[in-house]
Amino acid sequence: MMYVLYAFLILAGLGLVLGLALAIASKVLEVKEDARIKEVEKMLPNYNCGACGYPGCHQMAENLVSGAETNLGKCKPGKQDKNYDPIIAYLSEHPDEDGTKHIPSVKK
Ligand code: SF4
Repeated sequence: MMYVLYAFLILAGLGLVLGLALAIASKVLEVKEDARIKEVEKMLPNYNCGACGYPGCHQMAENLVSGAETNLGKCKPGKQDKNYDPIIAYLSEHPDEDGTKHIPSVKK
């Protein structure tokens, strides 16, 4: 009967130690993402349809914020007033840390 108790205590201790190690590692190794990416992603239609040529809206948002993508019109389900205009306004008001503005245009 004591063997079962020892096994339980050892497994519980291991779980506790490994859980703490994972919690510490997630804090230490955390990769901070540009907050603008999340904001731009929220303004996209969020269909994750891939019509823009990217695997999903998050990747499209990442490229719009970095300036790697300059054509918002690639987002086919996007609407001018609902999606494009708010994103253009947001990126105009939120430049990079060095002041560089990546303002996309809409070419269908
Ligand atoms: S086309 Fe628009 S809705 Fe579809 S994945 Fe790309 S950004 Fe998202």
